Amino acid sequence: MFVDKAVIYVKAGDGGDGAVSFHREKYVAAGGPDGGDGGKGGNVVFVADDSMSTLLDFRYKRKYAAEKGQNGSGGRRTGKNAPDLIVKVPRGTLVRDNKTGRIIADMSSDEPQIIANGGKGGKGNARFATPTRQIPKFSKPGFIGEEIEASLELKLLADVGLVGFPNVGKSTLISVVSAAKPKIANYHFTTLTPVLGVVSAGEGKSFVMADIPGLIEGASEGVGLGHEFLRHVDRCRLMIHVVDVSGSEGRDPKEDFEIINRELSNFSEELAERPQIVAANKCDMADPERIAEFKKFIAEKGYECFEISAATTMGTKELMECVAAELDKLPPIKVYESEPAAPLLDENAGMGERFEITRGDDAVFYVEAPWLEHIMRTVDMDDYESLQYFQRVLRNTGIIDALEEKGIKEGDTVNIFGFEFDFVF
Ligand code: GDP
Ligand code: MG
Repeated sequence: MFVDKAVIYVKAGDGGDGAVSFHREKYVAAGGPDGGDGGKGGNVVFVADDSMSTLLDFRYKRKYAAEKGQNGSGGRRTGKNAPDLIVKVPRGTLVRDNKTGRIIADMSSDEPQIIANGGKGGKGNARFATPTRQIPKFSKPGFIGEEIEASLELKLLADVGLVGFPNVGKSTLISVVSAAKPKIANYHFTTLTPVLGVVSAGEGKSFVMADIPGLIEGASEGVGLGHEFLRHVDRCRLMIHVVDVSGSEGRDPKEDFEIINRELSNFSEELAERPQIVAANKCDMADPERIAEFKKFIAEKGYECFEISAATTMGTKELMECVAAELDKLPPIKVYESEPAAPLLDENAGMGERFEITRGDDAVFYVEAPWLEHIMRTVDMDDYESLQYFQRVLRNTGIIDALEEKGIKEGDTVNIFGFEFDFVF
């Protein structure tokens, strides 16, 4: 089975929690805080693998989660960072956020790509000691690792795509011009997984050709070629349109040519305008008059046409030379740019939700609300923008107003799930 699309769930590891701990030693009266920071959660990293040719594996295993960072511990010991989870995908896989359609990565190069970032570790209480606050009894939980529903789509990396009706000789052609050995048989739909072949075009030059599966059944009955398969030629710089001029299956080659092109433009105008070279195949058993008629028809349409016989390799060398020369004039294979993530933080988070403010014996104002805990876990207070966001949330949700009603004064301490700060108007 050829699988070229899959949706998987990817979860990076959460950061480890910071520790609350106090130094204890004989004869040392009051040890200081020594809780270490949590370790970083593991990233989920994708790597392109040339030995994979389908996304089949992702139909069976859909969840990919990296480990959580280790919690910090006493003695200022930082928890261990969790290892990255490496996931192999076929080269050319386009990874998107399934919810928004945003392109996360195009797995075309050898460069590993982080698909989901692990959360940073939370700080241990050793970090929160200040001259005026010598006994910090709190630490911070680790940050949450990114979680993504990722859609994977295999878009083959090939310079040249073979298009044409079933049985016209596409697999035979790739087998004689490259080392690829696709299945060849005199019945339809023998090609089940895409086959890539490297064609050498002299003097160290070469290009990649793809024989693509999935021409749907009934194409000849006008059911259509199946747009599904056309995605695979999306990246091709040029197409070789293979036509059986012998009419061995009782079809008219001119009509075949038109039907395929109609399907291409139905799928995408862009694809229909991709350069095409026509290979009039099975010339070894075609009527010369028919060949001439077909060539005239193609010339009128403005395409180049080569008389070939893939089975006997007649004319295939000339065709490949022409393809190589054309490719030289064309831009390189399309690579998709990753798109930046929209800010995850929602300024209106917690609007209309309840919260509670209490004043402790230590004169600290404690703010509590379940939804706030989640925000605290996703916001990095060391980061200026995050901090500003956090302040806006406090204002938008009315927490600042409520604190003022409770009589808070400049310089008073506010504690929100362990995070303490001085109140300033
Ligand atoms: P595909 O479905 O387009 O990949 O076509 P195949 O490459 O599997 O070929 C279908 C059939 O046509 C096979 O039986 C081939 O041997 C035959 N064939 C392919 N090219 C030629 C050719 O140039 N001449 C002749 N006589 N038969 C060919
Ligand atoms: Mg085939």
